[in-house]
Amino acid sequence: MAESLFKDESEAQLSSDPWPASIGATPVDAIPVAQVSSQGLPLPIEVQPLKILWSAAIVLTLIHIVLLLAFVPWTFTWLFTWSGLVLAILGHFVFGMLGVTIGYHRLLTHRGFTCPTWLGHTLAVLGMCNLQDSPARWVAVHRMHHRHSDQQADPHSPLVSFMWGHVGWVVHRHKVFDRTIHYAPYVGDLLRDPFYRRLERHDAWLLVFIAHAVLITAAGALVGYIAGGASEALRYAASWAVWAVAVRTVLVLHGTWSVNSLAHMFGYRNYATKDASTNNWLVALFTHGEGWHNNHHADPQAASHGHRSWELDMSWWVIRLLEAVGLVKNVVRPKAWGS
Ligand SMILES: [Zn+2]
Ligand SMILES: [Zn+2]
Repeated sequence: MAESLFKDESEAQLSSDPWPASIGATPVDAIPVAQVSSQGLPLPIEVQPLKILWSAAIVLTLIHIVLLLAFVPWTFTWLFTWSGLVLAILGHFVFGMLGVTIGYHRLLTHRGFTCPTWLGHTLAVLGMCNLQDSPARWVAVHRMHHRHSDQQADPHSPLVSFMWGHVGWVVHRHKVFDRTIHYAPYVGDLLRDPFYRRLERHDAWLLVFIAHAVLITAAGALVGYIAGGASEALRYAASWAVWAVAVRTVLVLHGTWSVNSLAHMFGYRNYATKDASTNNWLVALFTHGEGWHNNHHADPQAASHGHRSWELDMSWWVIRLLEAVGLVKNVVRPKAWGS
């Protein structure tokens, strides 16, 4: 993990290498945003002509409205309980880190380690509780992103515009991702498992999200009732629904979206990859290590995204822990570590 490991440039091309001519002559962290954006990468052909994906637009708007309600002064004082805030933070780790970062991304998309089927399915269920699509569709989008990073066919390059890379792509129809049969070639490995196939039917994954929201709200009602009777039951139920579900879900969503937008625009680069990916410490802190995104594009299968000793990657610590207790195996280390 030490910096000396990067001395072998046959293993790891450091950023002293020339920046790809197609992007510009200097490293990305020296290019102002406007200049990057003005290069005007065209929208993917598959989204043209642009059509709003109303189901996604409405659901995402609603959950942001619920989140905003939490910060209106009167509702804030009424809805706020420390338990709601604690659960929101805890949920960011349980659902965001275990579900999306470790489950959807490092396991299902990149196969950075192997684990028992029950554990893989559990991580996938936690992933579905973040309103980020079915496992198969999420993985298909992300594999396409890696195949065409920051080229026209990339489904969410911020070189089109920051907003497109962040959230615009989520709320527009994409001809490949509109039906499972269209994106099945990207996720044949997942769809061989009946568990993932069933989740594709009738947006079954969305029922998992709704079920977890109902369960958390009901648990809040129970705790509130025990704490102070019927009026507290209502207050705790509302508080947990808003903080532990809506606020946490929106935070995890923007974390994932920031990897696609900010970590392709701002930060430093260890590797001269052919895309604009960067290592962004702020995104890395907020997404449990996903912000070391230039490292990840250089070595996608590695289960650790932090390559240097100070590139803290909390998701990697969890994977190491699971490996130490024998729950995960065949953990892929970064090539730069030399083993
Ligand atoms: Zn990327
Ligand atoms: Zn990836």
